[in-house]
Amino acid sequence: MIPRRGILIVLSSPSGAGKTTLTSDLLNWDPLIAFSVSATTRPARPGEREGREYQFRSRAEFRRMVADGEMLEHAEVFGNLYGTPKAAVEETISKGRDLLFDIDWQGARQLRRSELGRDVVSVFLLPPSIADLRSRLEARAQDSEEVIEGRMEQAENEIDHWTDSEYVLVNRDLDETAANLRMIVMAERLKRVRQPGLVKFVQGLNAEFKGRR
Ligand code: 5GP
Repeated sequence: MIPRRGILIVLSSPSGAGKTTLTSDLLNWDPLIAFSVSATTRPARPGEREGREYQFRSRAEFRRMVADGEMLEHAEVFGNLYGTPKAAVEETISKGRDLLFDIDWQGARQLRRSELGRDVVSVFLLPPSIADLRSRLEARAQDSEEVIEGRMEQAENEIDHWTDSEYVLVNRDLDETAANLRMIVMAERLKRVRQPGLVKFVQGLNAEFKGRR
């Protein structure tokens, strides 16, 4: 296989648009795609494990990481700090593996403007309607009415940034959206700039041409 450079897939959406399901679908589809584990100052929720969903850090430690330039991007979301540690990202994509990010619009913007900006593929996921978004949020039985209202407000704020993404998928049908997401990943991987190994490959083709003369 021709060596390639990994891509940074940023999937943005308001909560309730199906992002969690599509994230796990993409990760299960191709083991070459890894989830980018962010650092956060928010406490772990039941069932979350250190290093799997997040790296849970104190505010002091988080600030130290930012000050030492260890974060590729960082932002405050709902009063907590979130950020993407740089080292793991660079290591993963240089090995030709892709990374999937679940970060907010502020982080996505910083990532696109970072030194790895040309490796970013951004996809925005829209709900088919606001009524649909609300009923999906309500279906999460653990949330109170107040929490749901808060999430609706955040959803409106997140949707305001839909034009930041290169690709937009309206999630009317989960299977269809998942298939479209895979197609985006497949096409992006095939871009010439993402296949540095092609230079050598084409040199080989040219050598064959010469051999015929
Ligand atoms: P939660 O606390 O519910 O897991 O995530 C809350 C919000 O923080 C979500 O919108 C999620 O996309 C965002 N988020 C998670 N990790 C990061 C990160 O590393 N950077 C930024 N900018 N946002 C993040």
